[in-house]
Amino acid sequence: MPILTEKQVAAVQAHLAMAGIKAPLREELLDHLCCAIEERMERGQDFETALPDCLHSWPIRHLKKLQTNILITTKLKPMLVRFTATAAAMAGLVFLSPFSLPPDAPMERDEVSFLLENEYLLEEAFVFEPPTGSPIPGVDLKNPDKTLTSTFGMRMHPIFKQKRLHTGIDLKADIGTPVVATANGKVVFAGENGDYGICVRILHDDGYVTVYSHLHQHDVIRGEEVTQGQKIAAVGNTGKSMGPHLHYEVLKDDVPMDPLALLEE
Ligand SMILES: [Zn+2]
Repeated sequence: MPILTEKQVAAVQAHLAMAGIKAPLREELLDHLCCAIEERMERGQDFETALPDCLHSWPIRHLKKLQTNILITTKLKPMLVRFTATAAAMAGLVFLSPFSLPPDAPMERDEVSFLLENEYLLEEAFVFEPPTGSPIPGVDLKNPDKTLTSTFGMRMHPIFKQKRLHTGIDLKADIGTPVVATANGKVVFAGENGDYGICVRILHDDGYVTVYSHLHQHDVIRGEEVTQGQKIAAVGNTGKSMGPHLHYEVLKDDVPMDPLALLEE
């Protein structure tokens, strides 16, 4: 098997650096990519063509996503543990208890390596879930009871006294009640937003944006990566608001949609 020269390894490393890949994923990916290139070279390809071929299956966007997924281990890890357990059981090995790994512990190198060797697991990890979490912990959006004071759609505006599209849902809650992100994403706005008062906007994958308005305060700043269920703000009564509540919006490709309809999909 051909062994890559230092210079060739550096070229692979440069690609990973460009994607901002951090340890332990960086070391593991480097090994993985170098092996894949060496295998191609063994089959007669030269480094110059094997490198782009291998990188092609690991585009930077894909790598960044992988990194995010590895940082957000809570979601990935149970799946990995489940799979490891199944594979071990199938092979007649000792069953690995899903409780043997704490859910929030960072991934170990061998786990990352395992993931890379089972690429279909990655595919599974990349399936994006639209924002279907509840913005207020403890409030079940499928059964919000009296918390839901206004639904999505045309309504008589309580302040402007004319029919307008209510672009989100209103959830009644006391000032200071925690507000959480309804999906993993990145904060693209946090601050004053006119009639909407203090507001947080989060960009998710797949063209989804969630907006949280009339807040008392925001706990995140622009550019911050957030995970589903993470506290981002507190309920308030800022902007044009008739009492403490959360105005929650979901947009898909800039078009407001009914957050509750999303739950039924
Ligand atoms: Zn509203």
